[in-house]
Amino acid sequence: MREMYSGKAKTVYDNGDEVIIEFRDDITAFDSVKQSSIKGKGFYNAQTSAKLFEFLERNGVRTHYLGMEDDARMKAEKVEIIPLEVIVRNIAAGSITRNYPIKGGTIFENPVVIFDLKDDKYHDPMVNEDIVEILGLATWDELKEMREKSLRINSLLREFFEEKKIKLVDFKLEFGRHRDGIILADEISCDTCRFWNEMDESLDKDLYRFDKGDVLAGYKKVYKLLKG
Ligand code: 5GP
Repeated sequence: MREMYSGKAKTVYDNGDEVIIEFRDDITAFDSVKQSSIKGKGFYNAQTSAKLFEFLERNGVRTHYLGMEDDARMKAEKVEIIPLEVIVRNIAAGSITRNYPIKGGTIFENPVVIFDLKDDKYHDPMVNEDIVEILGLATWDELKEMREKSLRINSLLREFFEEKKIKLVDFKLEFGRHRDGIILADEISCDTCRFWNEMDESLDKDLYRFDKGDVLAGYKKVYKLLKG
């Protein structure tokens, strides 16, 4: 299979009408200033993403997910990725507490939606409608659609994780253009979400970012909860 794209933690292969996404064990943080490989991480991220995409599809959210090729490789629709990261926040953590006078742990009455430019060279800066238009990345209608879809995904996932006694603090989504319209793409995993347990301990990439504990144990815990 021809390699189409290799990112920090995933490689995408051309497979005719579809793509195969390989979830690798590589892990990076802070624009790749910190880099390692954690054996088994690719498997957990692929499986977590698959379970969450399946759950969203069952609830009427169109995603690029087509099934699994094997344990750590996912079959997905070909899409044109929109180079924006949609961040949804339910509880303040991470960059919002560094960039604004907002205390970590603040619970938002209404989820906060932020669009970031997906470009490490510029450190993924936050963008607004005007910047997105100047850069020719998406139309205002597309932004509105991504925002609405992200909020719907948030309410579905939040409730799903609440039942499992996990707090969905925040997460990042990416969307792609497809012949059927804008659909959810990329992944939803411990690399792209913040999950806290009942003691507000991280079960996600913050374990790696801030050396908070056993990274794989956190990823495995989330996977096990989803596997049932
Ligand atoms: P923050 O803006 O606090 O760094 O991130 C907010 C949420 O979006 C976190 O769950 C974080 O994991 C996710 N996120 C934001 N930017 C990126 C990114 O470039 N890559 C990944 N994997 N996740 C991101």
